[in-house]
Amino acid sequence: MLSLRKFDITYVKGIGPERAKLLGAELGIKTAYDLLRHYPTGYIDRSTTYSVRSIREAAGEYPMLQLRGRFVSFNVVGEGASMRLIGLFTDGTATMDCVWFKGVREMRKRLATGREYVLFGKPGWFRDTLQMTHPEVDPPEAVESAPGIRAVYPLTEKLRQRNLGSRAIHTAVVNFLRTHPNQFRDPLPPSVVSGAGLMSLDEAIRNIHMPSSPEALERAKLRLKFEELFYIQADMLMRSRKRKASVQGYIMPRVGQWFNDFYYNCLPFELTGAQKRVIKEIRADIMSGRQMNRLVQGDVGSGKTLVALMSMLLALDNGYQACLMAPTEILATQHFETIYELASKIGLNVRLLTGSTRAKQRRVIDEGLRDGSIHILVGTHAVIEDKVVFNRLGFVVIDEQHRFGVAQRARLWKKSDVPPHVLVMTATPIPRTLAMTVYGDLDVSVIDELPPGRKPVNTVLRFDEQRAQVNRGIMAQLRAGHQVYIVYPLVEENEKLDLKSVTEGFESAAQTFSPYSVALVHGRMKPADKDASMQLFASGKASILVATTVIEVGVNVPNATTMVIENAERFGLSQLHQLRGRVGRGADRSHCILMSKHNIGADTRKRLELMTSTTDGFVIAEADMQMRGPGDIEGTAQSGLPFDLKIANLAHDGQIIQLARRAAEALLDADPDLSAPANRYFALALSEMLNRATDWSRIS
Ligand code: ADP
Ligand code: MG
Repeated sequence: MLSLRKFDITYVKGIGPERAKLLGAELGIKTAYDLLRHYPTGYIDRSTTYSVRSIREAAGEYPMLQLRGRFVSFNVVGEGASMRLIGLFTDGTATMDCVWFKGVREMRKRLATGREYVLFGKPGWFRDTLQMTHPEVDPPEAVESAPGIRAVYPLTEKLRQRNLGSRAIHTAVVNFLRTHPNQFRDPLPPSVVSGAGLMSLDEAIRNIHMPSSPEALERAKLRLKFEELFYIQADMLMRSRKRKASVQGYIMPRVGQWFNDFYYNCLPFELTGAQKRVIKEIRADIMSGRQMNRLVQGDVGSGKTLVALMSMLLALDNGYQACLMAPTEILATQHFETIYELASKIGLNVRLLTGSTRAKQRRVIDEGLRDGSIHILVGTHAVIEDKVVFNRLGFVVIDEQHRFGVAQRARLWKKSDVPPHVLVMTATPIPRTLAMTVYGDLDVSVIDELPPGRKPVNTVLRFDEQRAQVNRGIMAQLRAGHQVYIVYPLVEENEKLDLKSVTEGFESAAQTFSPYSVALVHGRMKPADKDASMQLFASGKASILVATTVIEVGVNVPNATTMVIENAERFGLSQLHQLRGRVGRGADRSHCILMSKHNIGADTRKRLELMTSTTDGFVIAEADMQMRGPGDIEGTAQSGLPFDLKIANLAHDGQIIQLARRAAEALLDADPDLSAPANRYFALALSEMLNRATDWSRIS
């Protein structure tokens, strides 16, 4: 078996020094291994030949397709940059123009009239002329030697210009594979390959480039996607298992007075099934002797705060203190008030610490934390400052995860010898399979059930022409004593314009809805002013809040029953969902009005209509991921994978992720450090994968 990684592509038949240099510079392909791992991005069916007449008669967008016929004439027209070669082509049914803007002289020399060719390309209409620009042109013999499904490769513009196209890459790959059978050593452990019923690597590489049938192609794709995802799952699982084995956690076996007292005397309603299940999962974690790192995902209003509180009570029952961190002062204050109201009856000593806590109050808090008389501390980032010292901090809740970085989480650990248990709450649901990958290091719980009796927010799509009608609806809500949010987008690139529209929106709302008072909040305001405005609205002194997306996270004003989202077409689905979660928090029926301009694209319209048809955060997250790709979903972009995926797609390959996850679990159960002889080659390949990734990140 030769070493593919050492085989310089210069010596692959059909490449040579010049092309090798180009491929290296443009695509990073330097060895035969790189070349074979440069997977096609698509396939075209070359088994069918179309007629020019059938194309002329068909309307709409044409796919890449194949024709067979002769050139009647060639004309070089234009000069300099606009010089082009036009060949009149016919297959006997009708005629079509073929146009070359690049390599005019070369093509003119290569092609002859009267000779039969096979053309391959994408037809289109230019004014009234049917034409194909830059088709691939081959003598029939060349095509007949590689019939059927043919691979199309990702290219750069430069490669295309230099005539190093998809076909050239394909030819080189095919040449190499034909002359070098069975060169691939499979990195996946044999037990995994057979357990998941996968194709061998060698067969998969062959079929991804030269599919022997559509079924074989599907199996090849599955195998190669699985491989990528398996590396990721194995790496994540190994790391998280190591951490669990090495990091001790406080053992909290007791369910005592605090929890029971609260449960039997303070809880004004029955817990939902999902809440009970998640509390059980947390209990199992904190009894295990290992540190808990758990993410609780749940839609807005699913009752995460309550789950957090009850978990903290469990910590108290075992003699520990707990703390809850929120990303903003307002949210911290709301959490504090909620907990205070719910649990003051049972004598819980809960305090609030934020940046604006006065020195005197602060001394009292410091004292209480040190002597252990404060049970729960609620606060902002202020709670992780070094000077905040607890007596026995055992449990930490972090609300709205993506605003707290990993580094900040780590600072909490310094507050006790053994790291406290960490519960992260997020209302940005991400599909389970994605969570499995991007939050691989956290265990994930899901609250997938809303408390009973919740009325879904009535969501409608309205266009600018309907504004008068929308305003009448708002007025009716205001008259009924309710409050209203009016939200404007704020996107970095045109911050100035956005700022203008939100301030204008504020002024026009003040006029339109007079005498109701309006507050304004946007990201450019000083934090103190922002808080003051929010407070006006939260206290009910202002009836309308005109805001940019700063209100996205967590604000709870149950009396606010209506939200108008201006330029809704500019928001992502997940963001719309988060915003909408601000209403529908009280007993009254709530409304969300998505305002949009009339001429929006079909995709945008589909997105907005989805919002009007469901309030299920997971459905929305899934759809968002399908539409925009996983990278854009809030909170996941930075988390990054250890290496770039070439073929697997986190949005579409959920089932394969699950398959890979289960296979990795089974493998590591049997051989935790991959030391068995059968797995050693995989261990090597894995570390190589991860090391290469590190190198790349250093370069960029
Ligand atoms: P989240 O933090 O997930 O957005 P909260 O914990 O703030 O949700 O809960 C939203 C509202 O629902 C609160 O007013 C809370 O008291 C209430 N709630 C929570 N759990 C239940 C339940 N099981 N039954 C009824 N109401 C509940
Ligand atoms: Mg909450």
